Amino acid sequence: MIVLDLEWNQPFGGRRMEEIIQIGAVRLAEPGGTVQDWFNMHIRPSIYPKLSPVARKLPESAQALTAELDFPAAYQAFLDWCGDDSLWAEWGAQDHGVLAANAAYWRMPEPPVTACVDLQAAFGRTLGIGIGRRVALEQAVEYCGIPLIYEFHNALYDALYAALVSAWLTKDALAASVPPPSTGKPRRRRSIRFSPVEYPRQPRQKVGVFPEREQVLNSRQARLVPCPLCRTPGAVESWYPQGDVFYGTFRCQEHGRFPVRMSVTRQKDGWQGRRVVPTLTEPERAAFAAAHQHEPFQCRREKAKRRKRHRKKGKGQSKPGA
Ligand SMILES: [Zn+2]
Repeated sequence: MIVLDLEWNQPFGGRRMEEIIQIGAVRLAEPGGTVQDWFNMHIRPSIYPKLSPVARKLPESAQALTAELDFPAAYQAFLDWCGDDSLWAEWGAQDHGVLAANAAYWRMPEPPVTACVDLQAAFGRTLGIGIGRRVALEQAVEYCGIPLIYEFHNALYDALYAALVSAWLTKDALAASVPPPSTGKPRRRRSIRFSPVEYPRQPRQKVGVFPEREQVLNSRQARLVPCPLCRTPGAVESWYPQGDVFYGTFRCQEHGRFPVRMSVTRQKDGWQGRRVVPTLTEPERAAFAAAHQHEPFQCRREKAKRRKRHRKKGKGQSKPGA
């Protein structure tokens, strides 16, 4: 099993794809097993040569800027290192999507991953906390009593820490987080058919602030999106996560299906979304396709309906399917 972690240059100022600047990974005999091997490479950013303010704070960002390897060379070395190991694990299960997006951008083969264990979700299951509550790697490492020898936000060390945490997870929690292997069909078939109509650049819309992250995703404010051509609203039904960014789609009866992208970030007073109907450039399509391979967040029904159902139950009138 390969435990992967990436560091990347975040999209900012009109950017659309995370550009990877470090690939770190360790190989385990099995989840929780001994570390057999490791991989670490810094990558010189070449799509966006300037680092984002967040990426600049990474402990190893200087190594990326002076790295000799570009993405294609480092990725090829990583593919060679992976060999036939197609069971991966990641903290949050988003990294292979970012890797796939970068690979697609450079027109290189997809990551050879057939199943990916979301160690973060498995950690939540082991603890018995809700799926929407995500524990940061630092907290999990501390919780497990693992000595804090290495600094965080270095891809190799984060992969190592995640691998060590995996020893602490229950078998049940781990098993449940392995998605079934893909059917072998090319993934492109699952891609969404967006409206071919061109539309003007769409404004950003603020959503929230809400006390919980899931409330941002569930809110009408986030989910009801006006068609970029006729302004008739359509509803987003599920969000596909890609780090702090969520992708969804909605339909206009007349103009077809459109993409929605929403970043959700923590503010001083809660969680806030920034939503936009993006223009479909090639990196945007790649990022969307990568996110679309993740387990989606299904939006819940409106609060009013749930309250009503709850009240009925209280009176002992609950009917199946009511
Ligand atoms: Zn329309």
